[in-house]
Amino acid sequence: MTLPHRCSYIDRGRDCPLSPSYIISIENDNDEYMIAVVCHDHRDLMESRLKAMQSKSTIPQGKTKFQEIRVVVTDCINAAGDE
Ligand SMILES: [Zn+2]
Repeated sequence: MTLPHRCSYIDRGRDCPLSPSYIISIENDNDEYMIAVVCHDHRDLMESRLKAMQSKSTIPQGKTKFQEIRVVVTDCINAAGDE
């Protein structure tokens, strides 16, 4: 499975440029759908946005799960914002 490189949160039409820290999935009966990834800063905002989307049935009902992404670094990157 390849993950997006950027947070899925869109703030007033602008994509968030940060790399994601969490995978968001929805648990529904025996299924689990991965729906987005989100950076640390937008975790709470995304959670409330998802609740709003669930109430409008834009996304499946169920329990939202945030799973921390353990980054396996293969290239040389600067560990920015990793605290
Ligand atoms: Zn973000």
